Amino acid sequence: MHKEVIIIGAGPAGLTAASQLLKIGVEVMLIDRNDLVGGQLTKQTHMFFGSEKQHASKRGIDILTMLDEKLKQYPNKLTVFTQTTVVGLYNDKVVTCIKDDRYFKLSADAIIIATGASEKSLPFENNDLPGVYAAGAVQTLMNVYGVKPGHKVLMVGSGNIGLIVSYQLMQAGVHVVGLVEAADHISGYLVHASKIKRLGVDLWMNTSVKKAIGVDSVEAVEIWQLDDQWQGIPGTEKQLEVDTICIAVGLAPLTELLQQIGAEVVYIRELGGNVPRVNKHYETSINNVFACGDVTGIEEASSAMIAGEITGIETALKLGYHVPNHTAKLTQLHCDLDTLRQGPHGSKIRQGIAKLGVQL
Ligand SMILES: Cc1cc2nc3c(=O)[nH]c(=O)nc-3n(C[C@H](O)[C@H](O)[C@H](O)COP(=O)(O)OP(=O)(O)OC[C@H]3O[C@@H](n4cnc5c(N)ncnc54)[C@H](O)[C@@H]3O)c2cc1C
Repeated sequence: MHKEVIIIGAGPAGLTAASQLLKIGVEVMLIDRNDLVGGQLTKQTHMFFGSEKQHASKRGIDILTMLDEKLKQYPNKLTVFTQTTVVGLYNDKVVTCIKDDRYFKLSADAIIIATGASEKSLPFENNDLPGVYAAGAVQTLMNVYGVKPGHKVLMVGSGNIGLIVSYQLMQAGVHVVGLVEAADHISGYLVHASKIKRLGVDLWMNTSVKKAIGVDSVEAVEIWQLDDQWQGIPGTEKQLEVDTICIAVGLAPLTELLQQIGAEVVYIRELGGNVPRVNKHYETSINNVFACGDVTGIEEASSAMIAGEITGIETALKLGYHVPNHTAKLTQLHCDLDTLRQGPHGSKIRQGIAKLGVQL
C-alpha cells in the first residue's frame, strides 16, 4: 500500500500533523502500536497547565477526543492502523510493520516520525523484581485498564510525572509511602508537590533507592541518602515496607527508527538524550523524513501539538501543495512555541535547542 504521507506514532504530535495534512488535502496513513490512538494522552486524566489556547484546564483524555473528532472529518483521505508496530524504516521510504503476527510493507512519499519517548530506568540491586514499574506503566494500568499496581508504593523521582502519578495513585486508594529524589530540590511544578505533601506524603531529597528486597516480588525497599556526587552514604540506609517501586526518572526520545534509516542523531542531555538533527522545517537529515514531538526532545503535549501542526504544514509544502497563508500560520505557530518555552521550566529545552543550533 502506498500513501502520500505515513505518520509513525499517533500521540498529540502525530495527530495534529495528520489533521493539518488532511485539511490541506494530503492522504495520510497513521500507524500506532497501541490499541488506541492518543499516545500519552490516553492515560492523562489530570487537567493540563498553560494557556487556554493550549487547552489548559482540559484533561488529556478530553483533548484526545477533540483531536480524534477533527480527524474523523476526513474519512476518505485517512487510514489508521492501530496495534501495528513499525519495525523497519528504509531510505526508499518503505516502512515495515507487524500487526497480528503479520509482517507487511508500506511506502510513502514522505514520512513523519512522531514516536515519542520511552521511560528511563534506574540501576539498583534487584531492579528486575516484579513490582518495580516505570511510572507511565503504572499510569496505563490504573487509568486505561483500571488496575491498581499494588497497595504500598515508593515513588522515585520528583518531576511532574512522579508527582502527578503519586497523586493519581492516592486517588485510586493506593498508599504512597514516600517519594525519593536524588537532587536537592523538587524538579516538577511546586503546585503538584504541595498537593501530595498536604496529603501526607513524605518527600525525601538527596535520597535514592539502594536495593529492592523480596523473593518473588517486591516486599520492601532500602533507600539511602546521597552525597553531592550522588553517591550513597553508608550508614544512612532506611528500610520501607512496600510492594511497588515506581520509577519516574525521566524520558528518552525513541529515535531507533531514525537511527536505522541513517538520519543524523546527536546526543543533547537537555533534550533527553539522542535526538534527530532536524532543520527549522522539522525535516531530518534524510530527504522527506520529518520528526516532531517528544522524539525531537522531551517537552509537553502542548508543544508536541504545535510542533505537529508545523510539521504537517511543512511536509505538505515539501510535497508541492499550496497552503494558503502558510507564512503567517507558521510564524504564529513558532511564536506560540516560543511562548510555551519561556520561564524557568522552559530553560532546559531552550538550552537544548540552542545546542541543536536551529530555530525550532
Ligand atoms: C504522567 C505524565 C503527565 C504529563 N502531563 C502533561 C501536562 O499536564 N501537560 C502537557 O502539556 N504535557 C504533559 N505530559 C507530556 C506529554 O504527554 C508528552 O510530551 C506528549 O505526549 C508527547 O507527544 P508525542 O506525540 O511526541 O508522543 P507520545 O504521546 O508518546 O506518542 C507517541 C506514540 O508513538 C507510538 N509509537 C512509538 N514507537 C512506535 C513504533 N515503532 N510503531 C508504532 N507506534 C509507535 C506510541 O505507541 C505512542 O502512541 C505528561 C506526560 C506524562 C508521562
